[in-house]
Amino acid sequence: MELKITDLSKTYPNGVQALKNVNLTIPKGMFGLLGPNGAGKSTLMRTIATLQEADNGEIQLDGLNVLKEKAEVRKQLGYLPQEFGVYPKISAEAMLDHFAELKGITNKNERRELVKSLLEQTNLYHVRKKNLSGYSGGMKQRFGIAQALLGNPKLIIVDEPTAGLDPAERNRFHNLLSEIGENIIVILSTHIVDDVSDLCKSMAIINEGEVLLYGQPLELIKNIEGKIWEKVIDKDELKSCQDNYNIISTRLYLGKIIVHAYSESNPDSFEMVKPNLEDVYFSAIKNAKTVVKSN
Ligand code: ADP
Repeated sequence: MELKITDLSKTYPNGVQALKNVNLTIPKGMFGLLGPNGAGKSTLMRTIATLQEADNGEIQLDGLNVLKEKAEVRKQLGYLPQEFGVYPKISAEAMLDHFAELKGITNKNERRELVKSLLEQTNLYHVRKKNLSGYSGGMKQRFGIAQALLGNPKLIIVDEPTAGLDPAERNRFHNLLSEIGENIIVILSTHIVDDVSDLCKSMAIINEGEVLLYGQPLELIKNIEGKIWEKVIDKDELKSCQDNYNIISTRLYLGKIIVHAYSESNPDSFEMVKPNLEDVYFSAIKNAKTVVKSN
């Protein structure tokens, strides 16, 4: 089972080129699509979810032509958007029952069993009678997953899921996703590097509509070993540091600044550090910008 995206492009009527020739093959399991705001993640997710058209390209899901056979794809797809919109004054149980009916499950007993098992799986059974409008951010996200799981989808798309969740809720949500991701394709779109490093077997980094990197997190980290350099500087040294070295990230620490540079050799009294996924991400984005600038 895989999702194959070939030469996908999209330009909005205002001229913004949101996707530039995107090629990606997404295998079973959790896949992280990582990129800053405005990178094109939602455009890509909505296109895969058959909610908007592309200008060019193809998407295949196990032999299905996603851009053409929309109705068939929708049966096999669960989508959890960034914003669910209004949460009505109706219980989670009643709402799921309603969604299940819309999905074509007409038998009442079958629906009751299904709704019960989804509520249990997402750890919402004890609050099933509570109105959705009174749910916390984490409960809403888990409800979103419950509705996305209706109809046994082959593919689940989750757009920016952990924004606004507290650490415990985020953890619970991650555990739920990784359980689901064992059997189907789950695409997690996010700008939070930790979400990807905690969860995803494979990933891509997207920026300004282009895929910059694609692979397994551990391998991508290995590829930049020996190239990430760290230095602790004073705040007033930052500007000259940024002017002189290829600084990929800065972080405040005890009133000082820890800078990371990407370089084939020691830039100048820096210390080599073991890279992590954040270094992969920031160096990919920074180096892409440098290439654009030098052209
Ligand atoms: P992300 O999800 O990574 O933040 P988006 O796919 O939402 O990125 O946006 C990619 C680019 O396309 C941005 O520059 C955004 O402003 C632009 N964009 C998104 N949706 C529209 C739209 N409906 N009309 C015009 N421009 C859009």
